Amino acid sequence: MEHNELWNLDELPAEQANMSTMEWIAEQMPGGFFIYRADDSQEVLFINRAGCHIFGCDTVEEFRKLTGNTFRGMVHPEDFDKVKASIEKQIASDEENQLDYVIYRILRKDGEIRWLDDYGHFANLADVGDVFYVFISDITDTCRIQKERERNRRLKQALEEAEQANKAKTSFLSNMSHEIRTPITAILGMNEIIRRESDDPAILQYSENIRRAGNSLLRIVSDILDFSKIEAGKLEIVEGEYSMFDIIADLYNMIQFRAEEKGLSLQIEVDPALPRRLVGDMMRVKQIITNLLTNAIKYTERGSVTLHITLADRKEETASVYVEVRDTGIGIKEEEICKLFEAFERLDTRRTHTIEGVGLGLPICQQILGMMGSKLQVDSVYNVGSTFYFYLDQEVADAEPIGQLSADDVVTIREDRSSESLSFIAPDSRILIVDDTPMNLQVIEGLLKPTKMQIDTATSGAECLEKFSVYPYDLIFLDYRMPHMDGIETLEELKEKNPEKFEHTPIISLTASAVTGERERMLGAGFTDYLTKPVNMSEMREVLTKYLPDEEIIPIKEEASEEEDVLAELPGELFALDWLDPKEGVEYCGDATMYLCALEMFAKSVDDKITLIRDCLTNKDIKLFTVTVHAIKSTALTIGAAGFSAEARALELASKAEEYEVIHKDTPAFLEEYHALKVDLDRALAGA
Ligand code: ADP
Repeated sequence: MEHNELWNLDELPAEQANMSTMEWIAEQMPGGFFIYRADDSQEVLFINRAGCHIFGCDTVEEFRKLTGNTFRGMVHPEDFDKVKASIEKQIASDEENQLDYVIYRILRKDGEIRWLDDYGHFANLADVGDVFYVFISDITDTCRIQKERERNRRLKQALEEAEQANKAKTSFLSNMSHEIRTPITAILGMNEIIRRESDDPAILQYSENIRRAGNSLLRIVSDILDFSKIEAGKLEIVEGEYSMFDIIADLYNMIQFRAEEKGLSLQIEVDPALPRRLVGDMMRVKQIITNLLTNAIKYTERGSVTLHITLADRKEETASVYVEVRDTGIGIKEEEICKLFEAFERLDTRRTHTIEGVGLGLPICQQILGMMGSKLQVDSVYNVGSTFYFYLDQEVADAEPIGQLSADDVVTIREDRSSESLSFIAPDSRILIVDDTPMNLQVIEGLLKPTKMQIDTATSGAECLEKFSVYPYDLIFLDYRMPHMDGIETLEELKEKNPEKFEHTPIISLTASAVTGERERMLGAGFTDYLTKPVNMSEMREVLTKYLPDEEIIPIKEEASEEEDVLAELPGELFALDWLDPKEGVEYCGDATMYLCALEMFAKSVDDKITLIRDCLTNKDIKLFTVTVHAIKSTALTIGAAGFSAEARALELASKAEEYEVIHKDTPAFLEEYHALKVDLDRALAGA
């Protein structure tokens, strides 16, 4: 724009003709401008159009009416004193320029509060005296944006801090639970040795208590570990093919004894149409159902717990499996149902505080199901019972229907499995166990002692390498978590230094971590197989029988002298009882001591059980009757009383089929025989 154009005052619009040039310019300025007297009156001598608009006024008259035409009237009453003091201070301290800058609120004509910034300048004008002339602008939006920005910045910072804290918490939980697992496994392992080596019933009882408490601690720690994994987004669903039958059998065998202990009947209802093999994360599916079943048993005092699995829908490649766990327990109040899936929430604590648990089981189930595209749901009636259920879509690997399945089938499998897992010895085998914790070495050595293998130990990766280069090993157990050189590093070194030997030596990873995905990680790293600590005897046997050379494994049954030794520890009278097979009993119980304990417990419980069965008949409590004869069936089998066990089984089947006549006809003779067994046992054991 040309200089002349701007200052061509001759072209002023006609309506401004009565204004001075300077007034007109001030009037035309796009920003707010006003002049007021620098005395007590603070009278506003001039305000331009933009200034009036800032106050929501169209004319100077409106502005005067709103503010009383004074500077005091322009400023929000709450801000005025501060603004005045600030202006005076700035002017006094800046004699040369006599400038001030303040920010304050105003009240517009429409009642809205706005923020202004105000550049003022003190001046002494010849014709009017002392004045301030002031440039103002409405900075409300800038302030708002700034405030918003500041708020966002703070929120972001708070979020970052919270995330950081959460990460720290998750990693603390995960590390702690991992670290806690290691000593617990050592305690449980040592305890296992005590159980094997002690004959003293009191010590066996203490040791049993340690086992129970240790296992429940281990469960809690595993829950915390899972939970922190979920929080950290590290929990993965690892899919593979699995057998529905195996899941059901495992669940039954895991849970049945707990139900039995509480006098609850455990019902398994399986849809015969379920496909035999599915694809999914078997470990996690089992974990969820186990959790629901364990809860059902924990929170039920009498009655039954039912696992019901059906095929809800079948598409070409997938099956929708409906899983339901029903109980007749304490139930959940309607208003508490919403808290069920919140971490660390326990409900109805007046009734549940004595029951083991930390309130993580259901949140974990819910999260895992969420990852599988499903959702855990619940129906419950307080004091009547609860039903937890979910639908799971799984790919079908083998569409062949699972067929009719009863609890008996599943139990038979358990019994078969236990006889399958009889001990063996392998005196020609030489193995190496590597673990940096001497106690862990001792535990595993202790567990393996009965196999009579030659056992070498090493407490570091370096020592392992050394021994591996000297001796031929049939098998190596290698701890994963070791200082300096961990399991995987050691494995790599073994391979590099002795590739040929490495090729022929099975190396089993030992870890305290039972997290899903660990197995794949270990196998991926080159381990032959994987065992979690605390080492479970049957898994250990499975590994040994799988990887030791067949010709070195001698089943213990063939070792006549061993067996005779064991049997020689038993009172001779037992062998005179025609209904008892002590040899079979010892096989079931593990050793002579445990067998004697089992016999004593069996004999001791007879009177109570007889009374219980009679009460059941009087009260027509068929469910309890079934549970009781079922328990007798199992315990009789365990002590080697197969004939009597079969009689109990016949009664169990009759009661399941509700054949009351058979029950009433056969029970008296059964009880009489039961009593006779007790008399026999008491006599035989009196000398023990
Ligand atoms: P925990 O059992 O370890 O306390 P869960 O997350 O599995 O933790 O369960 C949370 C709470 O929900 C329990 O403390 C209990 O109050 C309630 N609950 C769970 N299952 C049942 C059930 N079958 N019947 C009644 N209450 C239940």
